[in-house]
Amino acid sequence: MKEHEYSNGEITVIWKPDVCQHSAVCLNLLPQVYNPGKRPWINLGDTPSELLRAQINACPSSALSYIENKEI
Ligand code: SF4
Repeated sequence: MKEHEYSNGEITVIWKPDVCQHSAVCLNLLPQVYNPGKRPWINLGDTPSELLRAQINACPSSALSYIENKEI
């Protein structure tokens, strides 16, 4: 399955387009991050990881998930 990954250094956001229901919950919660008119359409920028985690947990289809980046 195709996946796209976006990191802000602290967490890595994973988006699975095949699973996305285009319900736009993500756009409504964090419009500064999710913009379908841009490529890439996900730009984490300096959005705090707590906000990203909360919004990702609200994705109804599990198309969005995240992993915590480990210190090496
Ligand atoms: S909230 Fe999830 S299912 Fe809805 S558009 Fe965003 S990624 Fe897709």
